[in-house]
Amino acid sequence: MLKGKTAIITGGTRGIGFEIVKKFIENGANVAFFGSKKETVDKSLTKLKELYPDKEIMGLYENISDAKAVESAFNKVVEKFGKLDILVNNAGISARESLLDYKLEDFEKIMNLNVNAVFVCSQAAAKLMYKNHNGAIINTSSMVSLYGQPSGVGYPTSKYAVNGMTKSLARELGKYNIRVNAVAPGVTATDMVAALPKEMVERISSTIPLGRVGQPEEVANAFLFLASDMASYITGTILSVDGAAIV
Ligand code: NAD
Repeated sequence: MLKGKTAIITGGTRGIGFEIVKKFIENGANVAFFGSKKETVDKSLTKLKELYPDKEIMGLYENISDAKAVESAFNKVVEKFGKLDILVNNAGISARESLLDYKLEDFEKIMNLNVNAVFVCSQAAAKLMYKNHNGAIINTSSMVSLYGQPSGVGYPTSKYAVNGMTKSLARELGKYNIRVNAVAPGVTATDMVAALPKEMVERISSTIPLGRVGQPEEVANAFLFLASDMASYITGTILSVDGAAIV
């Protein structure tokens, strides 16, 4: 589905991002992924080299909220693979403090990664894509972007911003044939969810109409579809992959 395309994926070292990296490679894309630290990037690269020994894969760990660092890293990707077709903004962090205890620096930390980095990476990607009159940017939202959550206000706020950026950039970049969409996962079985108390995950699962949390691969399938030419007339959409959950 992605033969001959080049994709950059942020937060590709584990969880949903790692599944997207694998799915894109298996579907023929050249992939460069970002993580936050050299050690975790190298560890993921080792796993990927074992799985796909014939593929050239780039692992990067520049600060994705830093415009200069991102521009130079994206240029390295284009030097190696010739062009950029797909950007997946997946890196994200969450926190659940109540408002009364919430520190401004923690709020800013979430916004810096979940919102600022999406802006920075989208701008750097659009600068490379618009001349080719082709591109797909896929952001990672969340089901909490539809109705908030009862604590940790920074996280849903950041994901509402992601939806706003997705819809606005779809309108702005359509003239360059750059499509901008988002995937809004529900509760997905990654480290982010493993950090929650077991009883909480069980309680949540029992309220989900499909009766279980989602698997990272099920979420990655939605990214694959939106990145592919099968979605050539889809832009500005927020695709829920949540088992119809309202948690
Ligand atoms: P995860 O914690 O397993 O992985 C997060 C990824 O982000 C890692 O690759 C990590 O290296 C990267 N990252 C973290 N901090 C970073 C930083 N400062 N700079 C650069 N990269 C950094 O998370 P996940 O559950 O796979 O979540 C991936 C995305 O999906 C996030 O945007 C998250 O908000 C969203 N999401 C997850 C769920 C869920 O239930 N897991 C639900 C809805 C949305």
